[in-house]
Amino acid sequence: MSSDSKGAIFLDNASTTAMRKETLDAMTPYFLEDYGNPSSIHSMGRTPRDACNHVREIIGRIINAAPEEIYFTSGGTESDNWVLTSAARKAGKGKNIVISTIEHHAIIETAEALEKDGYTIRRAPVDADGIIDLDKLKELVDENTALVSVMTANNEIGSIQPLKEIAAIAHSKGALFHTDAVQAMCHIPIDVKEMGIDLLSASGHKFGGPKGVGFLFMRRGVRLEPFMRGGAQEEGKRAGTTNVPGIVGMGKAAELESADMEEKMSKISELRDHAIERIEKEIPFSKLNGHRTKRLPGNVNFSFRFVEGESLLMIMNMNGICVSTGSACASGSLDPSHVLLAIGLPHEIAHGSVRMSLSDRNTLEEIDKAVDVLKSALEKLRSMSPLYEDYVKKERCKDVI
Ligand SMILES: *Cc1c(COP(=O)(O)O)cnc(C)c1O
Repeated sequence: MSSDSKGAIFLDNASTTAMRKETLDAMTPYFLEDYGNPSSIHSMGRTPRDACNHVREIIGRIINAAPEEIYFTSGGTESDNWVLTSAARKAGKGKNIVISTIEHHAIIETAEALEKDGYTIRRAPVDADGIIDLDKLKELVDENTALVSVMTANNEIGSIQPLKEIAAIAHSKGALFHTDAVQAMCHIPIDVKEMGIDLLSASGHKFGGPKGVGFLFMRRGVRLEPFMRGGAQEEGKRAGTTNVPGIVGMGKAAELESADMEEKMSKISELRDHAIERIEKEIPFSKLNGHRTKRLPGNVNFSFRFVEGESLLMIMNMNGICVSTGSACASGSLDPSHVLLAIGLPHEIAHGSVRMSLSDRNTLEEIDKAVDVLKSALEKLRSMSPLYEDYVKKERCKDVI
């Protein structure tokens, strides 16, 4: 069991990740000694400025971008808001923006706000595996499309999109291509040049960095208006005093996480596949959500019939296991996750969904314990479910006939 998670088994790494001690150590001097403002002309500005520029190099190397193409932000939400809002304003109301139906709320809600302001948003559907329908996308993208925004990998169901093909469709009509890569950065390989990405959002705390810091990759030649105004930081594109310790931490985390990415990917995928295999074999009426192979190494997402995701989450939590659910009340609304509905799940099945998101800190023992608890929680909840009882009775009658 991870000694640093208060004894809990943390299977919610898509919501945030732990930092390594080395990452914290790299940040500390920028609070205590080299606390200068990188925008200062005097000598105290120098070291923090150099440190931030070094992080641009580290990140640039990982995604095959130039250091000057990296703009620091407060995280994935800001980067997403920046791209959508600025692209819409720049294009004007006669143009349109195309997003997918399974984007993160940072994109979905920004798009809704823009729609209220009179901008046109088009939504490209996904198939039952959560992969974008390229033919439908082609129909939606036209000469008036300013921007296509499709996430690299989905935070709920883990499906990985064909970015290169999507970028080609966007570019064929002269539109820019943006991808929310928050779940992908440092978890699967990204090459902005090879994939044809013009804009990319990422967030430090999803790959072992601190919370409240992220970046936007903006390809040279792409010009977006600033989203935050009030200073000359980040080439005048993103105002606000630079978050030096955060940026340094994000850089250190990126360095550590990307160093042996292939190895981590295979270790985590093995844990994932073990969980999926056991659940499918041992738990009846379960359905894997998301694509079976085009899937984030750490993502396990299942729907279980006849139960509420929340009840499952609570029982797991009482047993020291942290997971998340795509069901209703957890998100404060009556509707289940828009992602689960977009892949065609009926409401009642979407309500019984649980996501486990793994990291390389998790062990096989932890995964087995989580599946054991899940299994007994399901047995308990189903034994109390009138729906389940009815169903089983009916099935028995069928057998007799
Ligand atoms: C977490 C997440 C975000 C938001 O990032 P923050 O840095 O927490 O604001 C955006 N998109 C996706 C896909 C995410 O998983």
